[in-house]
Amino acid sequence: MQSDESELKNTPERMDFIRQIVAEDMKTGKWNGRVHTRFPPEPNGYLHIGHAKSICLNYGIAAEFGGKFNLRFDDTNPAKEEQEYVDSIIADVKWLGAQWEDRLFYASDYFHQMYDGAIELIKKGLAYVCDLTADQTRQYRGTLTEPGQNSPYRDRSVEENLDLFTRMKNGEFPDGSKTLKAKIDMVNPNINLRDPVMYRILHAGHHRQGDEWCVYPMYDWAHGIEDSIEGITHSICTLEFENHRPLYDWFLEQLEWYHPQQIEFARLNLTYTVMSKRKLLQLVKEKHVSGWDDPRMPTICGLRRRGFSPEAIRQFCKVIGVNKFNSTVDYALLEHCLRDHLNATSPRVMAVLNPLRVVITNYPDGQVEEMNAVNNPEDAAAGTRKVPFSGTLYIERDDFMEEPPKKFFRLAPGREVRLRYAYFVTCTDVVKNAAGEITELHCTYDPATRGGDAPDGRKVKATLHWVSAEHALDAEVRLYEQLFTKENPDEVEEGKTFLDNLNPDSLSIIKGCKVEPSLKDTKPLDRWQFERMGYFCTDYDSTANKLVFNKTVGLKDTWAKIQSKER
Ligand code: ATP
Ligand code: MG
Repeated sequence: MQSDESELKNTPERMDFIRQIVAEDMKTGKWNGRVHTRFPPEPNGYLHIGHAKSICLNYGIAAEFGGKFNLRFDDTNPAKEEQEYVDSIIADVKWLGAQWEDRLFYASDYFHQMYDGAIELIKKGLAYVCDLTADQTRQYRGTLTEPGQNSPYRDRSVEENLDLFTRMKNGEFPDGSKTLKAKIDMVNPNINLRDPVMYRILHAGHHRQGDEWCVYPMYDWAHGIEDSIEGITHSICTLEFENHRPLYDWFLEQLEWYHPQQIEFARLNLTYTVMSKRKLLQLVKEKHVSGWDDPRMPTICGLRRRGFSPEAIRQFCKVIGVNKFNSTVDYALLEHCLRDHLNATSPRVMAVLNPLRVVITNYPDGQVEEMNAVNNPEDAAAGTRKVPFSGTLYIERDDFMEEPPKKFFRLAPGREVRLRYAYFVTCTDVVKNAAGEITELHCTYDPATRGGDAPDGRKVKATLHWVSAEHALDAEVRLYEQLFTKENPDEVEEGKTFLDNLNPDSLSIIKGCKVEPSLKDTKPLDRWQFERMGYFCTDYDSTANKLVFNKTVGLKDTWAKIQSKER
């Protein structure tokens, strides 16, 4: 999100509709030249890639227009919030690169101002205590096609309302027995304006406020006040709040408090992905995944563990842009952005996932050579490293075929191939066990081809990666597929749930992999390209004795392929 020069020079054509609004406001001086945005997560789950879109948008706008960005926990709901979520959200927003400086806020710290605001509305005759039950309230509200009816408690006097609301706050009434409602219009075509509930009674402890409160504010009442207190200029939220905007505006107008502008945009949907916190929680609770940070999860911590970089996620958010229409983005686009960044930045190493032993019969006994390997062909500054070569190696089992079909150009009996950064080798013998399985290959090498080229100019059709048997380290590699088999996991037959669309093959674990010794000191979250095999990331479970890697993404760009087909 560090905006470089080109990003700062937003031209009107390049700007999304929200940036255009902000740019216009800057021109007209609407907010006295200020831009102040916020990201307001409810701490009832871990952040996911959809939240990243919102973070990139809100922080990006603040950064580009020289404004400020707040991180605010929307913790007005006592039942579901936990410190674990707060901590994870702070870590994830920081990792994504958004900076809130000293502006980390909790909506629950504004409970007193919210309460004072409610008293003000009661005094203005604009709010009343109502004794209808939740069910009755629903009936009185009417429907999209039928008007609502006034509550029999709507005309209570200001004095009675003040008295009852104070006693609600003091805990004198049981949960659900009364609410405080805004007195707006029971026949308004917009149901959100039909005397919405502002406060409900809940005798529940709060993760920050303890037992101080027995009444808790509803979202629509609380949210505008939070924005107002923090001096937010542009309160950016997702489309489902569009119909709530008249209420956001009504509350702040009646209070005559500082009044930000609410702007709605389309939330992110991704193929093969569920983004509802409830469903993500269910996947964790029912152990369909190993936790919130399972590398198959669309959570920020899951993506991080999978090997995503913050740069890749930010680039993705930039590419998808912001608009007013709900749509679903192809997962391949996310992978395309990921590959782009990993290709530019990941050190290359050699790792053999499914090893086949190769003995070089004419290689001097006990000799070891240090071969020069390029760390990253995309980045000269990454330099080179030494990789040990010896007379016994491992290659990928798939790189050999005893009876190769026409289009198979890799190793086969009698055929010569190049070993990356080393020599040309020719397969002379295939060794099998009693069951007829291949256990070992015998090859000869041509000492004149050291470094990878033949002085007589002869060519080979394949270059294989390898590791020296004696020097290789053991590793476990975890491969991942999409967590769901359907593009839209919520598309289910009658009587089934999204869980029926779980992909039973989304995780496979390969043990006994062999990797080059330069990986000895790798730490969790290090990102690598295993040559020819894809991008990988060291897992949290990795130790000096047992290295563990997650496959992040393959090398082949399916997005580029889709694009070229469409052209
Ligand atoms: P819920 O309200 O069901 O708990 P939520 O995903 O809306 O789920 P919040 O913590 O309220 O959770 O979200 C914080 C912010 O992130 C909100 O401003 C919300 O609009 C935004 N957001 C959530 N999901 C997405 C998404 N898929 N795409 C873009 N923005 C999102
Ligand atoms: Mg929400």
